[in-house]
Amino acid sequence: MSRFMSARHISLDAYTPGEQPRNRKYIKLNTNESPYPPSNGVVAAVAEAARGLQLYSDPECKQLTACVAEFYGVSPEQVLMTNGSDEILNFAFVAFGDEEHPFAAPEISYGFYPVFAQLNRVPYKPIPLKDDFSIDVSDYENIGANIVIANPNAPTGLCLTLSQIESIVASNRQNVVVIDEAYIDFGGESAIPLVNKYDNLLITRTFSKSYSLAGARLGIGIGCQSLIADLNTIKYSTNPYNVNSMTMAAGIAAIGDSAYYRKNCDEIISCRSYTKRRLQSLGFAVTDSKANFLFAAHPTVGGKELYLKLKEMGILIRHFDSEPISNYNRITVGTREQMDALIAAIELIMKEGNIK
Ligand code: PMP
Repeated sequence: MSRFMSARHISLDAYTPGEQPRNRKYIKLNTNESPYPPSNGVVAAVAEAARGLQLYSDPECKQLTACVAEFYGVSPEQVLMTNGSDEILNFAFVAFGDEEHPFAAPEISYGFYPVFAQLNRVPYKPIPLKDDFSIDVSDYENIGANIVIANPNAPTGLCLTLSQIESIVASNRQNVVVIDEAYIDFGGESAIPLVNKYDNLLITRTFSKSYSLAGARLGIGIGCQSLIADLNTIKYSTNPYNVNSMTMAAGIAAIGDSAYYRKNCDEIISCRSYTKRRLQSLGFAVTDSKANFLFAAHPTVGGKELYLKLKEMGILIRHFDSEPISNYNRITVGTREQMDALIAAIELIMKEGNIK
């Protein structure tokens, strides 16, 4: 740290992204990317957009916003496009959080939420999960704080139903409830239909997972017009050109090719069931994930040990070295071939360790 760092950031505990190694070709099951490439239409649209890179991107993101609004059945004024959904989540903390308006979130959830809170000096209230890692909805009713919940939750993959989400939103009308739907296309029920009923609901979405565009950085915020206007104020005070022209073109083409992405999601969902069954037959406890990852623990092979051994064998999964999930690993669902390689590697580790 330099001697110039502001005192208010000295203790900032920054987010640690999953490893993105470039030195070796891993089977990469650690950051929930899609195993499938973007559609040909997306690749062509990006190449075309590259021809106009001498110009700034459209700060209003008009064409893409209209396209996304139509796709989700809302008006363009209810949509804000951002540089990944991390950006819209940060905007929400900046716009709606302060000393009097803390954010509450499940204790085990996306690791970036407490970082956004700390960065923006917003008090943060972690709410413990139940022993089975599920969220107790009654903990969030009338809580007197803004709320952020990933649905499905990460890294557990567990979902709340739409009526559970509605009861949280309805009982907190004086606060904003952010539902982070990064993984919703893999099985959960979206709360987007509720945005016309509740002015305190913000949905965030990403193109990083189901739309194979993690490297393009494209996120969405959907809420009532006035919430989106507030978030736009933050955007125009931070980075008006937050979405670059190539990414805008990629987003429009991706929405146009939704059938291709839906098919990929369906493949991932069926591969998730297959992999879950295989892991269970090896003795793993596996949560009922509705996301593009599994959350699994073995009674005798430690979580960290498994992560390190698989890494040596060229397979990356995500380990969180914190209680009560240190025995678990989060495993992205890839292709059937990748999952077979994972299972074969785990079988070998168990055989070598004489584990039944
Ligand atoms: N929310 C959750 C729950 C996530 O796991 C991620 C991915 N790390 C994000 C949001 C952010 O995704 P992105 O910025 O790529 O849209």
